Amino acid sequence: MAQRKKIVLITGGAGFLGSHLCDRFLYDGYRVLCVDNLITGNTKNIGHLLSDRNFRFIEHNVSKEIRIPGPVHYILHFASPASPVDYLLYPIPTLKVGSLGTHNTLGLAKKKQARYLLASTSEVYGDPLVHPQKETYWGNVNPIGPRGVYDEAKRFAEAITMAYHRMHKIDIKIVRIFNTYGPRMRIKDGRVVPNFIYQALHNEPLTVYGSGRQTRSFCYYSDLIEGIVRLLFSSMTGPVNIGNPKEFTIREFAQLVITSSGTKSRIVYKPLPIDDPKQRRPDISLARKELNWEPLVPLEKGLKVTIDWFKNNF
Ligand code: UDP
Repeated sequence: MAQRKKIVLITGGAGFLGSHLCDRFLYDGYRVLCVDNLITGNTKNIGHLLSDRNFRFIEHNVSKEIRIPGPVHYILHFASPASPVDYLLYPIPTLKVGSLGTHNTLGLAKKKQARYLLASTSEVYGDPLVHPQKETYWGNVNPIGPRGVYDEAKRFAEAITMAYHRMHKIDIKIVRIFNTYGPRMRIKDGRVVPNFIYQALHNEPLTVYGSGRQTRSFCYYSDLIEGIVRLLFSSMTGPVNIGNPKEFTIREFAQLVITSSGTKSRIVYKPLPIDDPKQRRPDISLARKELNWEPLVPLEKGLKVTIDWFKNNF
């Protein structure tokens, strides 16, 4: 008898990273249950999967109780607004999905005896005083600032995931995701990659916040997905940083978007948002050693593909 396919449940499955995970697990021969409440996700991201008999979309807010009949072997909790602009628009849903949503999905993992992977974030390091950031760094987060709703929800999510691991012996994995970009980001999600690309494609000025000397390190989505899959099937629990260690100032990044897109846009400077981290770069030695993983796609290349995708999709 043919072996039954294993079932993967992905929360936030209609979002940017969630939908790429759906693609990857279907490709690898799994059945995928995609759960999303569509506040920042979009069915356009999974439209090509809706007719696949191994794919099911469930419109649901995981901050409320989740009932799934039948077996579930893996749960990947990716549901959350993930842009600083979205934290301002949806502060309470952001807190709820990181706390209640994590609690509910862990409860489901316990019931189904599923392996559980939490999408955590470099934001747990806040405005870091240690550079680059290693997993052992505890962070520098302002709990009451506008970003606190995301940062603290994810810190709580890590804490409750570890508690379920210790108390209920759930098999868990925690990935700390650094800035990631690529096709299927929302053009208006407010993050720097879609913002600059949108502005460049419309020959509008690129809005650099602050002096533009703050740094970020940008990981192409396919590298990130590969790191997550390796973590899920590894023996480690994490947390483990997954991101690209090549660091750019935001001004350098703006310049790169200008040259890559061939736009006539120039740069304008706008006020820096509150608590905007001054520097961010992952130390990925743990992922290199334990997962034999490192990013392969250089920013110049990934950016070109992303710009073309935005040209064709908006
Ligand atoms: N940023 C910018 N212009 C924009 C959007 C963002 O200069 O139009 C800056 C932002 O202040 C931050 C960096 O780009 O320093 C990355 O911002 P993003 O919103 O992508 O995510 P973050 O890394 O802060 O979570």
